[in-house]
Amino acid sequence: MNPPRNSNAARDIAYALHPYTDHKAHLQAGPVVISRGQGVRVYDDQGKEYIESVAGLWCASLGFDNERLVQAAAAQMRKLPFYHSFTAKSHEPLIDLSEMLIERAPVTMSKVFFANSGSEANDSAIKMIWYMNNAIGRPEKKKIIARLKGYHGITLAAASLTGLPANHKLFDLPLPGFHHVGTPHHYHNALPGESEDAFATRLAEELDARIVAEGPETVAAFWAEPIMGAGGVILPPETYFPKIQAVLKKHDVLFVVDEVICGFWRTGNYWGSQTLGIEPDILVCAKALSASYLPISAVMVNERVFQGIAEGSSSIGTWGHGFTYSGHPVPAAVAIETLKIYDEMEIGKHVQRVGAHMQKELRRRFADHPLVGEVRGTGLIAGVELVADKAAKKNFDPAQKVGIRLTKIGEQNGVILRAMTNDSLGFSPPLIITEEEIDEMLNRFGKSLDEITVTVRRESIA
Ligand code: PMP
Repeated sequence: MNPPRNSNAARDIAYALHPYTDHKAHLQAGPVVISRGQGVRVYDDQGKEYIESVAGLWCASLGFDNERLVQAAAAQMRKLPFYHSFTAKSHEPLIDLSEMLIERAPVTMSKVFFANSGSEANDSAIKMIWYMNNAIGRPEKKKIIARLKGYHGITLAAASLTGLPANHKLFDLPLPGFHHVGTPHHYHNALPGESEDAFATRLAEELDARIVAEGPETVAAFWAEPIMGAGGVILPPETYFPKIQAVLKKHDVLFVVDEVICGFWRTGNYWGSQTLGIEPDILVCAKALSASYLPISAVMVNERVFQGIAEGSSSIGTWGHGFTYSGHPVPAAVAIETLKIYDEMEIGKHVQRVGAHMQKELRRRFADHPLVGEVRGTGLIAGVELVADKAAKKNFDPAQKVGIRLTKIGEQNGVILRAMTNDSLGFSPPLIITEEEIDEMLNRFGKSLDEITVTVRRESIA
């Protein structure tokens, strides 16, 4: 069906090159054009209403119509619409937000650096580590170990950290010096009969062996999301991170935690690090930092890393890193207001309550569904993985695009869903969602799941 000429859809097809989109299919099918939002709902340009089960891209934590954030941006634009933070310039929003983040950090942190996106923040953290190790006289300690199925963004270095095939080979990545170890997903990767704890031990031993094989004097840092998001919402065993951290300490390898999705109460604690028992040297965050009303990301470093970087100016030369918009006053003002709102609303208590409801209902309604292999998650983040063979834990052939087709059915039924690798659906609604809205979201998801089940059966691929 061709969209009417001069419609939004036709002009989108004519002019826009989208992220993560099948361009040829898009030329035929066109976009869903979202025009406005209210609470946990968005509306397309035809007036159709959808519940946003993923808060956009795991990010619109306060929903789509928070007036205080609009006012915070407007007020800052009137007062000082732009200033930079190069060469020791500063401004109040940058200072206030830095202080607030350090006060809220999961472990003692020293300084905050700002960027505009999760990818830029991860790239910045890599450059901090490389610069620091040059500065303190260990220039060979540069390799970085991340994990298969981890997601850390798409700029050249962040995409190298990412552990998903679509982000690597087709773009001639990863860059040299980036390595990946196994995914802590017990459901798929444990040996027959292996306990969660034994599985965690095996993964920690794998990391240890990898560091030893590479040479500990060449390995600088380990990168991890507390809960893998875009890789399919994968929760590690409880003892995984403590065991991993012991290995890193032994070899003097820094732990960088990527809290871009998990930060700001998503998992039921302020930070995913607290939920998963992580004590990072460097913490990267973005998304819910500003409720995504404006782009901003941050890298927090501990005193040891800061001292290493500070050493550089005298030992090797200028710290030549920073973005025009590092700490831009308008997104910084919005982020300050966002953090105040989280505190005032006691959003953490709300997430714990409605998150428990979402987790319970997802399991009650879908764990026994013939197409559902695993329901997993905590707080307000969850994954539902579809399988062709439940007993064998066998996924569908990716060519069948079962997850993607389910998202299309979901749109017809008024719920925006997100399908990832292995046909895992991610649930990460705005943190302000109510129990009633969760129930409605799951009604629409359940209806869509039943519809795809009929289709899949008809195609006899299940
Ligand atoms: N890290 C994680 C954990 C993410 O989920 C994402 C984006 N989904 C990124 C980094 C990259 O962020 P951005 O898209 O803002 O570059």
